[in-house]
Amino acid sequence: MNFSSILGHKRQIEVIRRDMSTGQLPPAYLFRGEEGIGKKLAALALAKALNCPSPAPDGDACGVCQSCRNIDSGCHPNVMTVALEMNPDTGKMRQEIVVSQVRAAQEFISLKSVGHGRKMLIVDDAHIMNKEAMNAFLKTLEEPPDSSHVVLISSKPDSLLPTVLSRCRAIGFSSLGEEAVAGLLMERKGLSHDTALIAARLTGGRPGDALAVEPSELMERRGDALKLIARLPGLALPQVLKEAEKASAEGGVLEDVVNFGSAWFRDIMILSAGADYSLAINRDLTDELRIWVGRIGGWRSEEAITLLEQTGAALTRTFNRRLTAEDLFLGLKTEILV
Ligand SMILES: [Zn+2]
Repeated sequence: MNFSSILGHKRQIEVIRRDMSTGQLPPAYLFRGEEGIGKKLAALALAKALNCPSPAPDGDACGVCQSCRNIDSGCHPNVMTVALEMNPDTGKMRQEIVVSQVRAAQEFISLKSVGHGRKMLIVDDAHIMNKEAMNAFLKTLEEPPDSSHVVLISSKPDSLLPTVLSRCRAIGFSSLGEEAVAGLLMERKGLSHDTALIAARLTGGRPGDALAVEPSELMERRGDALKLIARLPGLALPQVLKEAEKASAEGGVLEDVVNFGSAWFRDIMILSAGADYSLAINRDLTDELRIWVGRIGGWRSEEAITLLEQTGAALTRTFNRRLTAEDLFLGLKTEILV
């Protein structure tokens, strides 16, 4: 992914590219904005542009050379990403970025860059650095090593220390919005407004996801995920565990249950509170929704959303997908769908 292939965020990318072309690239950026809208893609596009040996005339990375491909696969010697890690002592994922990670990052950034490229440190979810880590990190922001750059990525910049914030050039990223993504789908795929809007909503307004799948496939996957959820109450425990194993192994099924399930229970929640059916994400399935509203009601749908959100968060940082799936399926069966 280089700058030219990122959808949306034109203004933000223009600012970064102008900083690059005028030689005014700041030692540290803060890319802020909600989750999953392309902040990290933009940071990686910058890392590529700073390291690509054969950039386009406009300075964008070529996207195909060894350097670009190494950055894509997370193994470029000049680029390091700090994110949540497993604690080697306990074997469990940490809940915060700790000072030893910051120290390792500082060591990385203090070393000379390889080739003609520049060092780039990306801190993903920078707000989950604990206080000690943030304080240690300040040193890097105060005295950044020559020709190195830092990008902090955060959906909760208010949780960063003011001293960290004040040393970064902040660029705000915003979601394109469902209507804008729907417009993109209508334009590029010739979809009707209704289908485009459902596809945009089912993919959470993320243009990359929305464009990557055919709406018919999206609806089919939604159908499979909802059927699986609906089957859980009728299954005996060993069968639930078996379904969990299957869902966690097959590509993306567990994610589908989380994503489509969240949208489904969100609809049930707002409909239970009296919202009009035209506001439902899954408004093409009004009859089914009506049945579920009667069956689940408001508070249990809220609990389902919480459970699915926790699962979604766990999936980004766990290696044990099967256990995560088991927790989710058992939770849905015994607490939500009873
Ligand atoms: Zn390249």
